[in-house]
Amino acid sequence: MGLGNKKEYLSFDIFKKKRFWNLMKFLFIPGKGKLNYFPLRYNIDPSSVCNLKCPYCIHCKDNDNTKIKKSIMSMEDFLIIFNKIKDYALLIEFYNFGEPLLNKNLPEMIKMCSDFGIKTRISSNMSVDVGEDFLSRLIDSGINRITCAVDGHNDEINKKYRVGSNFDIITKNINTLVKLKKSKNAKKTVISWRTLLFEWNYAYKEDIKKTAMEFGVDEINFDPGSFMLNDRKVSWDISNKKWKDSKKKFSKDIINKQSGKKCSFLFNSTIVNANGNLITCCLSGEKEAENKESLVLNSLYDVWNSKEFINTRLYNLGISDDRQNILELCKKCRLL
Ligand code: SF4
Ligand code: SF4
Repeated sequence: MGLGNKKEYLSFDIFKKKRFWNLMKFLFIPGKGKLNYFPLRYNIDPSSVCNLKCPYCIHCKDNDNTKIKKSIMSMEDFLIIFNKIKDYALLIEFYNFGEPLLNKNLPEMIKMCSDFGIKTRISSNMSVDVGEDFLSRLIDSGINRITCAVDGHNDEINKKYRVGSNFDIITKNINTLVKLKKSKNAKKTVISWRTLLFEWNYAYKEDIKKTAMEFGVDEINFDPGSFMLNDRKVSWDISNKKWKDSKKKFSKDIINKQSGKKCSFLFNSTIVNANGNLITCCLSGEKEAENKESLVLNSLYDVWNSKEFINTRLYNLGISDDRQNILELCKKCRLL
């Protein structure tokens, strides 16, 4: 996770005193192990629960012994977290492991961020029947981007990956969002359609594009979908129309002293699970991804500069060789 599309960070609110100094420290006095700035980008999971069971996702192979805890974030916990990060955050993405529309307080959480000059995004399967009032509050929240993750132009094709989805609900939600965006003149909200392409839907790419255009969304994107094939992690090669080993997808992202790359999860951004615990990074649904530190119970400084985080940063930079004492999840990381 880098800083993403930098244009989406630009706003006059960057110049709020603390946020500006935090950004300056990140840019000019970045530090090594213990950092004197706080993350600029946050993923806060309003719900680590999902209503679907997409085959490659952690929700498909649910196993409480190995997977992260599932919950819906309470407004009380969100307020505690928000007050700790509001002076530093440039962008908050309200999604990670689950479906954000399952949290009934989502529009109010986003509104608080917008009022504080923080950019916001969600990504949703759109298959939750939330009703027009919820969607109206969502548009009124000032949200910057709503990504509709839909992998087909009809129920049958979408369900091949989005197992358990309902295309009638998706249609109703997207139509309502587009209508509300127009009627409320919500120019700063981008409604984006995102399709993952796989072996079973790539042939329908043009039909999917036509359907998305008919909905009247602002943007349409296609990305390679990932899948397990005979115990191999693969992703769909859009140009050559075949599966390829997904290791190749990340080969340019090796983060160590040879490549000189820093892991952005360790230096720029952080993820907060729906129960308030810090998550090391979004690349895994394994239990080890969840740190013991809770951002509800601890200060942002203490969780961001925990002993394990400091050790892992020093290891990433090649300053230390001590792999034993880095974050549990990072010990398994093939990028580090
Ligand atoms: S919709 Fe997203 S979170 Fe839900 S099962 Fe599918 S990939 Fe996972
Ligand atoms: S597992 Fe650790 S080192 Fe690997 S990408 Fe995630 S945070 Fe970075």
